[in-house]
Amino acid sequence: MGMMRQYELVDRVRSYNPNTDEDLLNRAYVYAMRAHGTQKRASGDPFFAHPLEVAAILTDLKLDDATIVAAVLHDTVEDTAATLEEIESMFGPDIRRLVDGLTKIKKLDLVSKKAAQGENFRKLLLAIADDVRVLLVKLADRLHNMRTLHFVPPEKRLRIAEETIEIYAPLAGRMGMQELREELEELSFRHIKPEAHATVTKRLEEVTAREGRVIGEIELDLKEKLAASGIQAEVTGRRKRPYSIWKKMERKSVSFEQLSDIFGFRVIVEKPEDCYRVLGIVHMTWPMVPGRYKDYISTPKQNDYRSIHTTVVGPGHSRVELQIRTDAMDRIAEYGIAAHAHYKDGRPGEPIQLGDESRAYQWLRRTVDLLNEGDSPEEFLEHTKLELFHDQVFCFTPKGRLIALPRGATPIDFAYAVHTDVGNSAVGAKINGRIAPLLTELQNGDEVEITRAEGQAPPAAWESLVVTGKARAAIRRATRAAVRRQYAGLGRQILERAFSRAERAFSDEKLKAALKRLARNTVDDVLAAVGRGEMYSGDVVKAVYPDLEPEKRATAEGKPAGAPSGKGWFELRQGENLKFKLPGEGPSDSAIPIRGLGRDLPVRFAPQGGAVPGDRIVGILTPGEGVTIYPIQSPALAAFDNEPDRWLDVRWDLDDKVAQRFPARIALKSINEPGSLAQITTTIAEHDGNIDSVSMNRPNPDFTDVTIDLTVWDLKHLSAIISELREKRVISRVERVIG
Ligand code: MN
Repeated sequence: MGMMRQYELVDRVRSYNPNTDEDLLNRAYVYAMRAHGTQKRASGDPFFAHPLEVAAILTDLKLDDATIVAAVLHDTVEDTAATLEEIESMFGPDIRRLVDGLTKIKKLDLVSKKAAQGENFRKLLLAIADDVRVLLVKLADRLHNMRTLHFVPPEKRLRIAEETIEIYAPLAGRMGMQELREELEELSFRHIKPEAHATVTKRLEEVTAREGRVIGEIELDLKEKLAASGIQAEVTGRRKRPYSIWKKMERKSVSFEQLSDIFGFRVIVEKPEDCYRVLGIVHMTWPMVPGRYKDYISTPKQNDYRSIHTTVVGPGHSRVELQIRTDAMDRIAEYGIAAHAHYKDGRPGEPIQLGDESRAYQWLRRTVDLLNEGDSPEEFLEHTKLELFHDQVFCFTPKGRLIALPRGATPIDFAYAVHTDVGNSAVGAKINGRIAPLLTELQNGDEVEITRAEGQAPPAAWESLVVTGKARAAIRRATRAAVRRQYAGLGRQILERAFSRAERAFSDEKLKAALKRLARNTVDDVLAAVGRGEMYSGDVVKAVYPDLEPEKRATAEGKPAGAPSGKGWFELRQGENLKFKLPGEGPSDSAIPIRGLGRDLPVRFAPQGGAVPGDRIVGILTPGEGVTIYPIQSPALAAFDNEPDRWLDVRWDLDDKVAQRFPARIALKSINEPGSLAQITTTIAEHDGNIDSVSMNRPNPDFTDVTIDLTVWDLKHLSAIISELREKRVISRVERVIG
């Protein structure tokens, strides 16, 4: 392969930019050539051939002088004696910045261990966001490296190919550079799945040999019809690439034979209105395939892609996909963000129709904003990758603002895309005027109105249900803050009690003075740590009053250790368990009041199920044994998911005259305080609950986990007891346990 000569590089640039600074290009050429000297690539070629090839790729994208020069210089600082200072003095600060950015991202390993990968991805995006030309050079660099990957030792190939298909190809796509993305994917695919690549390629050739004639017919027919209608159009046929076919086979899990639209046409016209005229002619000539028509002209993709897509059934039942767009749209489709970088130095060029701020830039900026919102690098990487790969849906606010979201997005994602405050206060949604659950998957064209209520915090569970990184990060922040506030409040209660038991004054100022001893930064940190159980209240008292004798706290109320006292207080040590059964009524033996079953079937409640009247219940039939009743929300039911025949529709059939109690189980977390268990048992008793047994476990000195088996009349009764318990200051959590 002959190396590009100095005059050839200048000629290439001058062909699209007559005002190019030839002297600058010449100086860069000579500088880089001298710097790389006799270095060789893995192929045995002189190393200098590589930066020249990278520059050549960028001249195909018609980029400005600074980008071309940066490409020629991109490996000098890392691999040779050249310095950034020297580059600045010779080529100016703009080019220094570009080369600096490229040098920084050169060594980033983007498929390494997760934490490092996230951090590296972050650095990459920051470098790109600084000047998108850094990405353009990097992508061209990667493209040339991929084209020559077979020279690299096999053990290194896979890592480079994976990094390319996971990071650089999607980034190119998101920046709107489809040609480049496809070539990167294709080259990676060849190395990552060589057998799949070979199979698909062979099949493609067979199909082309068989159906190529039909494609020719369609092309001819289409050209004639367009000419007859007086539409100036350029029609080009193309075969899909092996990787895009493979991806479709994987995504839809279909075989090669079931794939129909392997051939496509691109129709390029002059004016946007011509696109719709062509569409009309196409649909009147061949039947369209429903569901395949997409109008990305009226709603462009997030990467500025605009085009009309449709698929028709041509002669011989071949499906053919058509992309119809104008010349200007095609340029954006091919060059993407590079089209906006044309003639950056203010030289006359063809005007680009889109605004200064392309959507691809906006996406980049939003993503970089996310970087500053405190996500861990792994989380950030995961979300951004998700957004890179997802298709888009386009929705509207009631005022008509377009909100682009990844496919699978919900009204919650929508709300956060509008504004973080809207997301945090969202309580409901209307989709196209109808009330809809917040977890509805949004469809293209939906108009979404968010109902808000102030003082709301988003439920933590939303975090796993949303698909946008922005929503996820905001929900995590909001729930973290809310949980922290809760724990801090609880910690304050615990500390107030602990200090009063020790007969010492408690105040934020005193706590502040002891922060160093407690190894925390703020009073809130201490409160939250105590509330979470990470720090023991006694240690805080000791840190504030180091002179305090240790017995003070243990003997504060002088209770006997290890035995139930009159108040129901137990001195459990950390890690100890205690179980005891109280004399109670127990579940009654009267007939089980279930309707919907044959009389002769034995019926019982699931032992851990704890169904009480008011619960929605199901019966599970075990042939030869009878029917077992479970509450519908019982996790045990998952075991019968695949046996629908065993599920019986049953209902409660209570006899008002026969009073009957049912067993239930609740779990509580209680602050360790004299009398706390007494408060719990008293509350249950006052509300007519019957305790069967109590078991306790002390995870740390400040808390006790309590599990109580009790009997209640029905669900309403049980719920009333739970909400009374929730009101108690000593209890930090209560929930019903269903086995
Ligand atoms: Mn390079």
